[in-house]
Amino acid sequence: MAPRPLIAGNWKMNMDLAGSEALAKDLLGAVGAAAKFEMTVCPPAPYLAAVLGVLEGSMISVGGQDCHQNASGAHTGDVSAAMLADLGCAYVIVGHSERRADHAESDAVVLAKAEAARANDLIPIVCVGETEAERDAGRTLDVVGTQIRGSVPEGLTGETLVVAYEPVWAIGTGRTPTTDDVAAVHAHIRSVLAEKTGDAANVRLLYGGSVKPANATELMAVNNVNGALVGGASLKAGDFLAIARST
Ligand code: PEP
Repeated sequence: MAPRPLIAGNWKMNMDLAGSEALAKDLLGAVGAAAKFEMTVCPPAPYLAAVLGVLEGSMISVGGQDCHQNASGAHTGDVSAAMLADLGCAYVIVGHSERRADHAESDAVVLAKAEAARANDLIPIVCVGETEAERDAGRTLDVVGTQIRGSVPEGLTGETLVVAYEPVWAIGTGRTPTTDDVAAVHAHIRSVLAEKTGDAANVRLLYGGSVKPANATELMAVNNVNGALVGGASLKAGDFLAIARST
Protein backbone atom coordinates (compact mmCIF):
# COMPACT_ATOMS: atom_id res chain seq x y z
CA MET A 1 0.00 0.00 0.00
CA ALA A 2 1.32 3.47 -0.88
CA PRO A 3 2.21 5.64 2.11
CA ARG A 4 -0.29 8.31 3.17
CA PRO A 5 0.45 11.46 1.13
CA LEU A 6 2.06 14.46 2.79
CA ILE A 7 1.29 17.96 1.59
CA ALA A 8 3.92 20.39 2.86
CA GLY A 9 3.72 24.16 2.48
CA ASN A 10 7.00 26.08 2.22
CA TRP A 11 6.12 29.70 2.97
CA LYS A 12 9.74 30.75 2.35
CA MET A 13 10.53 34.38 3.31
CA ASN A 14 6.95 35.56 2.88
CA MET A 15 4.09 36.75 5.09
CA ASP A 16 4.04 38.87 8.23
CA LEU A 17 2.90 37.89 11.70
CA ALA A 18 -0.78 38.73 11.19
CA GLY A 19 -0.80 37.10 7.75
CA SER A 20 0.84 33.93 9.05
CA GLU A 21 -1.72 33.56 11.82
CA ALA A 22 -4.57 34.31 9.43
CA LEU A 23 -3.36 31.73 6.90
CA ALA A 24 -3.00 29.10 9.62
CA LYS A 25 -6.52 29.88 10.86
CA ASP A 26 -7.94 29.68 7.35
CA LEU A 27 -6.33 26.28 6.80
CA LEU A 28 -7.53 25.03 10.16
CA GLY A 29 -11.08 26.19 9.51
CA ALA A 30 -11.32 24.49 6.14
CA VAL A 31 -9.17 21.35 6.33
CA GLY A 32 -11.71 19.06 8.02
CA ALA A 33 -10.72 15.64 9.36
CA ALA A 34 -8.61 14.87 6.28
CA ALA A 35 -7.55 11.31 7.03
CA LYS A 36 -6.60 10.89 3.36
CA PHE A 37 -3.56 13.12 3.59
CA GLU A 38 -1.22 14.61 6.14
CA MET A 39 -0.51 18.35 6.07
CA THR A 40 2.37 20.43 7.38
CA VAL A 41 3.28 24.09 6.97
CA CYS A 42 6.75 25.63 7.21
CA PRO A 43 6.50 29.32 8.10
CA PRO A 44 9.47 31.69 8.46
CA ALA A 45 11.31 31.07 11.75
CA PRO A 46 10.09 34.26 13.49
CA TYR A 47 6.47 33.16 13.01
CA LEU A 48 6.82 29.51 14.00
CA ALA A 49 5.63 30.02 17.57
CA ALA A 50 2.56 31.99 16.50
CA VAL A 51 1.58 29.44 13.85
CA LEU A 52 2.19 26.57 16.28
CA GLY A 53 -0.13 28.36 18.72
CA VAL A 54 -2.91 28.52 16.13
CA LEU A 55 -2.47 24.91 14.98
CA GLU A 56 -1.83 23.28 18.35
CA GLY A 57 -3.73 20.00 18.73
CA SER A 58 -4.90 20.05 15.11
CA MET A 59 -4.11 17.67 12.25
CA ILE A 60 -1.86 20.29 10.65
CA SER A 61 1.72 20.03 11.87
CA VAL A 62 4.45 22.64 11.58
CA GLY A 63 8.00 22.45 10.27
CA GLY A 64 11.08 24.63 10.00
CA GLN A 65 12.51 25.69 6.64
CA ASP A 66 16.08 24.84 7.67
CA CYS A 67 18.19 23.98 10.69
CA HIS A 68 21.87 24.28 11.49
CA GLN A 69 23.87 21.07 11.58
CA ASN A 70 25.44 21.89 14.95
CA ALA A 71 23.63 21.55 18.25
CA SER A 72 24.42 25.06 19.52
CA GLY A 73 27.10 27.72 19.51
CA ALA A 74 28.46 30.64 17.55
CA HIS A 75 26.27 30.53 14.44
CA THR A 76 24.70 33.96 14.24
CA GLY A 77 21.28 33.97 12.66
CA ASP A 78 20.95 30.20 12.54
CA VAL A 79 18.37 27.96 14.20
CA SER A 80 19.16 24.53 15.67
CA ALA A 81 17.07 21.41 15.25
CA ALA A 82 16.69 21.31 19.04
CA MET A 83 15.12 24.79 18.98
CA LEU A 84 12.60 23.70 16.36
CA ALA A 85 11.78 20.57 18.35
CA ASP A 86 11.51 22.61 21.55
CA LEU A 87 8.87 24.81 19.91
CA GLY A 88 6.85 21.77 18.82
CA CYS A 89 7.84 21.39 15.17
CA ALA A 90 7.48 17.96 13.59
CA TYR A 91 9.40 18.47 10.33
CA VAL A 92 12.29 20.47 8.94
CA ILE A 93 13.14 21.08 5.29
CA VAL A 94 16.84 20.53 4.59
CA GLY A 95 18.78 21.00 1.37
CA HIS A 96 16.21 23.15 -0.39
CA SER A 97 17.79 24.32 -3.66
CA GLU A 98 17.53 27.94 -2.47
CA ARG A 99 19.65 27.00 0.57
CA ARG A 100 22.04 24.93 -1.56
CA ALA A 101 22.46 27.94 -3.92
CA ASP A 102 22.22 30.94 -1.55
CA HIS A 103 24.27 29.38 1.27
CA ALA A 104 26.51 27.04 -0.71
CA GLU A 105 25.19 24.01 1.15
CA SER A 106 26.90 20.82 -0.01
CA ASP A 107 25.45 17.32 0.20
CA ALA A 108 27.66 16.76 3.26
CA VAL A 109 26.14 19.77 5.02
CA VAL A 110 22.62 18.68 4.09
CA LEU A 111 23.38 15.20 5.45
CA ALA A 112 24.61 16.71 8.73
CA LYS A 113 21.45 18.81 8.96
CA ALA A 114 19.25 15.77 8.35
CA GLU A 115 21.17 13.91 11.07
CA ALA A 116 20.74 16.84 13.46
CA ALA A 117 17.01 16.77 12.70
CA ARG A 118 16.81 13.06 13.55
CA ALA A 119 18.83 13.52 16.72
CA ASN A 120 16.02 15.82 17.84
CA ASP A 121 13.14 13.63 16.65
CA LEU A 122 12.30 15.91 13.74
CA ILE A 123 11.48 14.39 10.36
CA PRO A 124 13.79 15.85 7.72
CA ILE A 125 12.30 16.67 4.32
CA VAL A 126 15.46 16.25 2.24
CA CYS A 127 15.27 18.17 -1.05
CA VAL A 128 17.03 17.16 -4.25
CA GLY A 129 16.73 18.31 -7.84
CA GLU A 130 18.67 19.17 -10.97
CA THR A 131 19.31 22.56 -12.53
CA GLU A 132 18.13 23.35 -16.02
CA ALA A 133 21.67 22.99 -17.42
CA GLU A 134 22.00 19.56 -15.79
CA ARG A 135 18.65 18.52 -17.22
CA ASP A 136 19.58 19.76 -20.70
CA ALA A 137 22.79 17.75 -20.47
CA GLY A 138 20.76 14.61 -19.73
CA ARG A 139 22.23 14.36 -16.22
CA THR A 140 19.03 14.49 -14.12
CA LEU A 141 19.14 10.92 -12.77
CA ASP A 142 22.85 11.16 -12.14
CA VAL A 143 22.58 14.44 -10.24
CA VAL A 144 19.60 13.39 -8.18
CA GLY A 145 21.15 10.00 -7.37
CA THR A 146 24.35 11.67 -6.20
CA GLN A 147 22.37 14.08 -4.01
CA ILE A 148 20.42 11.22 -2.44
CA ARG A 149 23.60 9.22 -1.77
CA GLY A 150 25.27 12.29 -0.27
CA SER A 151 22.44 13.94 1.66
CA VAL A 152 20.27 11.17 3.11
CA PRO A 153 21.28 9.52 6.42
CA GLU A 154 21.51 5.73 6.62
CA GLY A 155 18.85 3.59 8.22
CA LEU A 156 15.87 5.95 8.33
CA THR A 157 12.35 4.70 7.65
CA GLY A 158 9.03 5.80 6.21
CA GLU A 159 8.28 7.25 9.64
CA THR A 160 11.46 9.26 9.95
CA LEU A 161 12.35 10.48 6.46
CA VAL A 162 10.67 12.39 3.64
CA VAL A 163 12.39 13.17 0.33
CA ALA A 164 11.28 15.95 -2.03
CA TYR A 165 12.19 15.99 -5.72
CA GLU A 166 12.25 19.61 -6.80
CA PRO A 167 13.72 20.36 -10.21
CA VAL A 168 15.40 23.74 -9.69
CA TRP A 169 14.12 25.03 -13.03
CA ALA A 170 10.52 24.27 -12.01
CA ILE A 171 10.56 26.18 -8.72
CA GLY A 172 8.49 29.34 -8.92
CA THR A 173 8.59 29.35 -12.73
CA GLY A 174 5.21 27.88 -13.64
CA ARG A 175 7.03 25.12 -15.54
CA THR A 176 6.79 21.45 -14.58
CA PRO A 177 8.37 18.24 -15.88
CA THR A 178 6.16 15.82 -17.79
CA THR A 179 4.48 13.19 -15.68
CA ASP A 180 6.70 10.58 -17.41
CA ASP A 181 9.79 12.50 -16.30
CA VAL A 182 8.50 12.78 -12.72
CA ALA A 183 7.76 9.03 -12.72
CA ALA A 184 11.26 8.21 -13.96
CA VAL A 185 12.99 10.41 -11.39
CA HIS A 186 10.84 9.22 -8.47
CA ALA A 187 11.42 5.56 -9.42
CA HIS A 188 15.15 6.27 -9.53
CA ILE A 189 15.06 8.03 -6.14
CA ARG A 190 13.26 5.08 -4.60
CA SER A 191 15.79 2.63 -5.98
CA VAL A 192 18.77 4.70 -4.76
CA LEU A 193 17.09 5.09 -1.36
CA ALA A 194 17.11 1.31 -1.08
CA GLU A 195 20.91 1.60 -0.68
CA LYS A 196 20.23 3.64 2.48
CA THR A 197 17.27 1.91 4.09
CA GLY A 198 15.37 -1.35 4.01
CA ASP A 199 12.18 0.72 4.26
CA ALA A 200 12.57 2.66 1.01
CA ALA A 201 9.11 1.58 -0.18
CA ASN A 202 7.50 3.48 2.69
CA VAL A 203 9.47 6.73 2.44
CA ARG A 204 7.24 9.49 1.13
CA LEU A 205 8.60 11.03 -2.06
CA LEU A 206 7.15 14.49 -2.63
CA TYR A 207 7.15 16.31 -5.94
CA GLY A 208 7.77 20.07 -5.73
CA GLY A 209 8.01 22.81 -8.33
CA SER A 210 5.11 24.97 -9.52
CA VAL A 211 2.43 22.67 -8.11
CA LYS A 212 -0.95 24.40 -8.26
CA PRO A 213 -4.58 23.28 -8.21
CA ALA A 214 -4.67 23.06 -12.02
CA ASN A 215 -1.82 20.52 -12.27
CA ALA A 216 -1.97 18.80 -8.88
CA THR A 217 -4.31 15.98 -9.85
CA GLU A 218 -2.09 14.70 -12.64
CA LEU A 219 1.14 15.17 -10.67
CA MET A 220 -0.21 13.49 -7.53
CA ALA A 221 -1.40 10.51 -9.59
CA VAL A 222 2.13 9.69 -10.81
CA ASN A 223 3.58 6.43 -9.59
CA ASN A 224 5.86 6.90 -6.56
CA VAL A 225 4.59 10.44 -5.89
CA ASN A 226 3.41 10.54 -2.28
CA GLY A 227 2.50 14.19 -1.91
CA ALA A 228 3.83 17.63 -2.70
CA LEU A 229 6.15 20.32 -1.40
CA VAL A 230 4.38 23.52 -2.37
CA GLY A 231 5.85 27.02 -2.39
CA GLY A 232 3.84 29.85 -3.94
CA ALA A 233 0.47 28.06 -3.91
CA SER A 234 0.83 27.28 -0.19
CA LEU A 235 0.35 30.98 0.60
CA LYS A 236 -3.32 30.80 -0.39
CA ALA A 237 -5.40 28.55 1.86
CA GLY A 238 -7.85 27.66 -0.94
CA ASP A 239 -5.12 26.66 -3.39
CA PHE A 240 -3.15 24.70 -0.81
CA LEU A 241 -6.25 22.79 0.28
CA ALA A 242 -7.24 22.11 -3.30
CA ILE A 243 -3.80 20.60 -3.91
CA ALA A 244 -4.11 18.49 -0.75
CA ARG A 245 -7.54 17.23 -1.81
CA SER A 246 -6.19 16.17 -5.18
CA THR A 247 -4.06 13.45 -3.55
C1 PEP B 1 9.57 25.26 -3.33
O1 PEP B 1 10.33 26.21 -3.34
O2 PEP B 1 9.72 24.36 -2.48
C2 PEP B 1 8.52 25.22 -4.33
C3 PEP B 1 8.06 24.05 -4.68
O3 PEP B 1 8.11 26.41 -4.85
P1 PEP B 1 6.92 26.66 -5.92
O4 PEP B 1 5.78 25.75 -5.55
O5 PEP B 1 6.57 28.11 -5.76
O6 PEP B 1 7.48 26.32 -7.26
